[in-house]
Amino acid sequence: VPAEVVVVGAGPAGLTLANLLRRNGIGCVVLERQSRRYVENRARAGLLEYRAVEMLRSHGLADRLLELGAPHGVCEFRIGGKRFILPYSDLYEGRTHYVYPQQELVKDLIEAFVDSGGDIRFEAKDVALHGISGSAPSVTWVGSDGEQHRVRCEFIAGCDGFRGVSRPSIPAGGVREFSHQPGIAWLGVLAEVPPSTEHVIYALHPKGFAGHMLRSPTVSRFFLQCPVDDSTAAWPDDRIWAELHERFAVPGSDWKLSEGRIIEKGVVDMRGHVTEPMAYGRLFLLGDAAHVITPVGAKGMNLALHDAEVLATALAGYYRGGDESGLTEYSETCLRRVWRCQEFSQWMTTAIHGTGDRFEDRTARTRLENLFRSPASAAWFAENYVGLM
Ligand code: FAD
Repeated sequence: VPAEVVVVGAGPAGLTLANLLRRNGIGCVVLERQSRRYVENRARAGLLEYRAVEMLRSHGLADRLLELGAPHGVCEFRIGGKRFILPYSDLYEGRTHYVYPQQELVKDLIEAFVDSGGDIRFEAKDVALHGISGSAPSVTWVGSDGEQHRVRCEFIAGCDGFRGVSRPSIPAGGVREFSHQPGIAWLGVLAEVPPSTEHVIYALHPKGFAGHMLRSPTVSRFFLQCPVDDSTAAWPDDRIWAELHERFAVPGSDWKLSEGRIIEKGVVDMRGHVTEPMAYGRLFLLGDAAHVITPVGAKGMNLALHDAEVLATALAGYYRGGDESGLTEYSETCLRRVWRCQEFSQWMTTAIHGTGDRFEDRTARTRLENLFRSPASAAWFAENYVGLM
């Protein structure tokens, strides 16, 4: 099969890119290691930035999101058992987030791509990239029929996440990698329980951070700070609920946390990682394949969507009139946003874990309290949290 572009990976980055390429009449094949059922049920992120929703809407990819997703413009910090509400949307010209589970967006994007006649191969095993330094790259894989296939193309979009094959296909020394591990971990918990809050809660507690994130009217996401070497074996359900009750407690208020069946738990990697540049020869890296970010600030999925938009625009320029400038500038354009998000995520990570007795814990906590003392600090937070335009 020939194709202009091979997209490796059917996550938010790969599927958004594939849809935008089809809308520009650019031929592509999407190769995904997992089954359709698997990727459509993989629960991960859930907070979409205003800009990401506008981008999807402008391409007709946001109908179900706008129908079922919920706009959100307020978050809460709990510090020392007291509640601080931040109406961040009001501070950013009314722009809001949308709460919409990642797997629902993935479902929508697959349906839109397939309905428009898109070619997507699920359960593609042993995907391998060839000739990425030359002008005629190709990709091979073993299909669900057990046969080896090859597709020749002009460009490869590596959208296969942090543990995919694309980035490791770049020869040694071809890119630089930057990594940061903040020395903490989060236990991520998904529970079948309606949210106990109308907005996201970030709770600072001497026993560590706790977060209450929103997913849907029947499912909620919780996070508990834990040691880096912790494992889910140390977290039976009873202990999770006891810790959540304790860390979210607001003495003297009637706020209550509802409990439900825990359907998923896992220790979340809090690492930051950036690859520079986000391209090598005919290979472009997008989303988690190029950069990972802590879940603090909810930027991972949003960056993936932004990369897809930038590359789709660049490829459209190239195929429409031979304009290569978008492709040349792809990495620099994306990295500007990536590093700004990494900086914000690091700022927020430090601020919400500042519950200890060290000098830097006090300064971190002061930063957070400044959001409620200084309109300028609050406006800066709002812009970064809802997402740069
Ligand atoms: P992915 O969604 O990882 O998609 C990559 C795709 O490539 C996958 O479908 C994978 O199966 C496929 N693939 C991998 N290897 C191959 C291969 N060799 N061949 C073919 N296909 C391959 N972000 C937040 O903002 N908030 C959160 O609460 C949050 N929680 C998270 C929880 C977990 C457990 C994880 C892992 C991530 C979380 N993230 C969160 C991050 C967010 O989900 C990612 O940033 C986002 O999924 C990035 O999209 P992507 O398309 O780049 O990569």
